[in-house]
Amino acid sequence: MKILVINAGSSSLKYQLIDMENETLLAKGLCERIGIDGHLKHSPLVGGKPVFNEDLPMPTHAEAIAAVIDKLTSAEYGVVASMKEIDAVGHRVVHGGEKFACSVKIDDAVMAALDECTPFAPLHNPANITGINACKAVMGDVPMVAVFDTAFHQTMPSKAYMYAVPYEYYENDGVRRYGFHGTSHRYVSSRCAELMGKPIEELKIISCHLGNGSSLAAIKNGKCVDTSMGFTPLVGLPMGTRCGDLDPGVMQYLMAKYDMDIDKMLNILNKKSGVQGISGISSDFRDLEKGATEGNERAKLALEMFSYWVAKVAGSYAAAMNGVDAIIFTAGVGENGPDTRKAVLDYLAFLGIEVDAAANAKRGEDIMISTADSKVKAFVIPTNEELVIARDTAEIVG
Ligand code: ADP
Repeated sequence: MKILVINAGSSSLKYQLIDMENETLLAKGLCERIGIDGHLKHSPLVGGKPVFNEDLPMPTHAEAIAAVIDKLTSAEYGVVASMKEIDAVGHRVVHGGEKFACSVKIDDAVMAALDECTPFAPLHNPANITGINACKAVMGDVPMVAVFDTAFHQTMPSKAYMYAVPYEYYENDGVRRYGFHGTSHRYVSSRCAELMGKPIEELKIISCHLGNGSSLAAIKNGKCVDTSMGFTPLVGLPMGTRCGDLDPGVMQYLMAKYDMDIDKMLNILNKKSGVQGISGISSDFRDLEKGATEGNERAKLALEMFSYWVAKVAGSYAAAMNGVDAIIFTAGVGENGPDTRKAVLDYLAFLGIEVDAAANAKRGEDIMISTADSKVKAFVIPTNEELVIARDTAEIVG
C-alpha cells in the first residue's frame, strides 16, 4: 500500500510518498509560495531519478497538488506509474478540538467538524482544510485520513487541561489546554518503549520536542497526562520566537503604554519573542551557541533560559507522574543540540540521571545518552510525524 502524506500550510505544502510494505520513503517534496507565484522542490528517493527544483505557477493548492501528482507519476522524476498506485492520502491537521481523540477517515461529517474546530486554530486549520479539498479536487475519491496534532493529548485528565477561569468558558467556549506536537510525542514515546524493551503501559516518559516550536509531554503508561502547550501553541517553554508562559498583565501594561492593539501584541509574542527576543540575534540555536561562545551575554541568557525552562517543566512532570523512567529529546534542537541536552539533564541529575558524554556527543538515529546504570534513561530519538500519519492512514483505510 502506498500512502501520500500531506502537510498543507497557508502558502506551502509538504509531502511524502511512503510504501507501507517496508515503510520506504519513495519521494518527498515541498511546494512554496502557493497563491503568490509557486515553486516545487521534488526529490525522488528511489530509482536514481533527478531532483526537480523549479518555479511553477500555483495560484491555489489544487495546482500545487496537481504538480505534485504530475511529478510523482512522470517518466523523468516519478516513482509510481500512475495516480492509481496511490492508495490513500493522510493529512496532518493541526486542531481537532475535543471532537477527535484519534485519527479518522475523512467524510462530509468530519469536514464539518473540522470547520467547527477552525476558531481554535484560525491560521492553521483553514490551510489544512484547503489541502484536503485540493486533494479531493485532483485525486477524486481516493480515501483520505486526518491525523491531528492535538489528538494524542486528549487523554489528559481535567485537572491538567482546565484553566482556572470561570467554568462557563470551558463549557460554552471550549477554552482549555489542548496541546500540540501530539503526533511527534506519540511516535518518540512508542519508539522509546521499543528501545527499552518494555511495554509502554509500564513506563513513565517525559518527551521533549525542542524545535522552532517546543513542547514537553508527560506520558504515563502510554497516555499523555500533561503537556506544556495550551489552548494555542504560544505557551509553555520560551521558543524560537514565541514567548511561552507570560503573565497576562504584561500584555495589558504594554498595550496601554505603547498604544498597541491585541493583534500587534500577539504578533510580538508569536514572532519577536522567545530566544530571538531575548538574544536580539536569532531564533536559531546554532547562531545563539556561536554568539554565546563569542561572549554575547544575551545569547547566553537565551540559552540558559531555554534549558532552565525545559528542566523546570520536566521536573514538574516527574512530580505529576510520581516518577520518571525515561526522558526523550527530539526535533531540531533536541536532536542536534548536545549542549542544550546536557544543560537540561544536569538540572535533572537529582532524579538519578547520569549523562554518557560520548553518547551525547554523537549524532544519528535513536541513541541512549545516559549511562547503562543511570536510574532514569535519556534518549535522542529523531521524530517522524509523517510515518505516524502514513501508519494511521494505512490502518484506517486498510
Ligand atoms: P520546526 O519546529 O520548525 O519543525 P525543527 O524541529 O526543524 O523546527 O527545528 C529547527 C531548529 O533546530 C532551528 O531553529 C535550530 O535552532 C535547531 N537546530 C537545527 N540544527 C541544529 C544544530 N546543528 N545545532 C543546534 N540547533 C540546531
